[in-house]
Amino acid sequence: MGNGSGTAQGNTRARFEQWARNPLCQANTLSAVHNVRMADVARHLGYRPSFGQSVFALTRGNNFERQILRDEGARLLEELIRTDVLPEGAKGLADLRVRMNGGPLPSLEEAIEATKGLLGALADPSGPGSPPRPAIIASPTVLIPKGVMLPEAVLILDVLAVRYDRGRPELTVGEIKTYPDRGGHTDPHQLAGARAQAGIYLHALELLLAELGCGDRVRLRRTGCLVLTRPGSNFPSVRAGEDLRYQTERARRGFELLEAAARGLAPFESPGDDPIDAVARAETEYSEACLRFCDRASQCHAAALEAGNPAVLGDEVRRFLGEVDLGRAVALLNGGDPRTAGERDLLRRLRRAGSTAHP
Ligand code: SF4
Repeated sequence: MGNGSGTAQGNTRARFEQWARNPLCQANTLSAVHNVRMADVARHLGYRPSFGQSVFALTRGNNFERQILRDEGARLLEELIRTDVLPEGAKGLADLRVRMNGGPLPSLEEAIEATKGLLGALADPSGPGSPPRPAIIASPTVLIPKGVMLPEAVLILDVLAVRYDRGRPELTVGEIKTYPDRGGHTDPHQLAGARAQAGIYLHALELLLAELGCGDRVRLRRTGCLVLTRPGSNFPSVRAGEDLRYQTERARRGFELLEAAARGLAPFESPGDDPIDAVARAETEYSEACLRFCDRASQCHAAALEAGNPAVLGDEVRRFLGEVDLGRAVALLNGGDPRTAGERDLLRRLRRAGSTAHP
């Protein structure tokens, strides 16, 4: 949430999610890999961008985070103990936020080093000095090396809860969101989005612990927690026990695929090539998902409609029609003769569907 999500670095997660929503679109892949905002591309093409987080939402997010982390994380700690993410008596906050996000650290580089140092010390409490034992780590920051996601990327987690009463230190990923927890009525799309983000963070932590060589001395829980708001207040409501196994695997696989897609991209034509123009020129592949995330959706939808692309009626219709465009599908429905093997196959399936509907 708040942790730098409004900064260029914090956009790493958003760029990954953007790519994952339509990985077949070359323009989208180019935009995600090279960090070229699609809003800028839309403006370049003369369209008004239709997405983007409002300043109000960002401010609200930052305020909520500050409230729950102040006084050594008192409000958050109480909820984490109530939901048994942390044991009774847990205390201590390690604040790794950078100054622009309300923390003490001057830069992301310092936050990356401090995160490594802290996790290393948790894994090796016999090191020099008294071992740190914070119950909450705010904004641990992970550098994903080049070669896992191109280019090298920084991920800032929201919070980690740490417990020490089960042998090895045990880490639970927490994702902070400002929308209210309405129990069984919380928006399922918002919850799915929050779990997907937490899965990316869990995967990033796996990579970091492996890099530090302490994966066997620190336990990373496969379940995470979502920190939402109590309706109408700035107090947190924690949803514990969120299963993140699928989302972590999705992130691992997605990073690999994005990497492969990035390698397959044609480079910009010359060092002076304008990246925004390069994304604007790249091939597009409209899909239903575009309407939910991309600033060029209305333009690409109009172009797809013009071309008779069945995706304008949704991905199910596109799958059903295969290579046949909308114009030809209508002609077949009106009794036209099929011209290709694909059209003959579609006609067979249409007739079968018709006879099932009217036995
Ligand atoms: S709206 Fe256009 S540019 Fe954006 S992802 Fe979809 S097809 Fe690609």
